[in-house]
Amino acid sequence: MDETEDLLSFPPLKRQRYDSQTRSHPTASSSFFFHDGDIVLEVEQHLFKIHKHRLKCSVIFSDMLDIPQPDVIDSMHGCPVVRLMDSPQDWQVALRWIYDPTGFRLIPEPVPFPLIPSALRIATKYEIGALRKWAVGQLRARWPSDLERMGSSSLPCAAEAIALARECDVLEILPAAFYALSLQRWCYNAEGGRSHLVLSPTDIRRLIVGRERLSDVCKQILFEPLVSRPAGLPFDACHQCREPLQRYWREKVMSDPQSPVECWLLRELYTIATQRDELFESAICAQCLAWHKDVAWMRFYGLKASIPQFFCL
Ligand SMILES: [Zn+2]
Repeated sequence: MDETEDLLSFPPLKRQRYDSQTRSHPTASSSFFFHDGDIVLEVEQHLFKIHKHRLKCSVIFSDMLDIPQPDVIDSMHGCPVVRLMDSPQDWQVALRWIYDPTGFRLIPEPVPFPLIPSALRIATKYEIGALRKWAVGQLRARWPSDLERMGSSSLPCAAEAIALARECDVLEILPAAFYALSLQRWCYNAEGGRSHLVLSPTDIRRLIVGRERLSDVCKQILFEPLVSRPAGLPFDACHQCREPLQRYWREKVMSDPQSPVECWLLRELYTIATQRDELFESAICAQCLAWHKDVAWMRFYGLKASIPQFFCL
């Protein structure tokens, strides 16, 4: 490998040499091939002819382009060529942002998930701060640190998000992503059922351990709804409220066998604590209702704090 090729290849030591005997010729990208472009990115079989100044948003490219280039270098379509060991799809997304960051931010929420890993990989590898910030923001919106803010958009692609968080160091989304994945029933062969294709064996174990611990929490409430802490004494509810209280809590932790999702206990607890259930609460005396609301908060905070440990994070 000569010096000039080395300079213009990422990563320099791993790339395959271009060999017209063994590789088909790369083809021009339909979206990013500008006639007045002054640099060509070759990514697998795709060519992007773009403008050097657009790459200045990347610390890595900015540094590289600041180095004086030798007179004789690899060229294609009249421009120096940089061969990259990335996926063309990832660059397609990154270039959409590089050329039109405003339009990119206007993509309706929630943005299609595949945009996020592509953007994050390129942004992380080539140090494009603003793009990484956008991608991390998208991940945090779906898998927030405040787990009660998780919505149904956290369910799809949770396994892919865990793998991506590990690859690109966005570890703060892991508790929410593991919790979202653990809610999904594997027998439906939807999101949860494909996790083994995406996750490492260690993360699969974390998922299984976490599901068992979550199931234990539900069972504890199911068996002893009036016991607010493990091995504690049951609440001494009055005669009139005892049965409705027990029935109410048992119903909340039971999951519908037809549903592809297990009991979303954290969300249930938050709803019980923060919202008024008119029909149920009007039938309960003030003292029992006070216990009921207190225990909903206690169970909510206890579960929220335990989720990272449940998944050994
Ligand atoms: Zn009562």
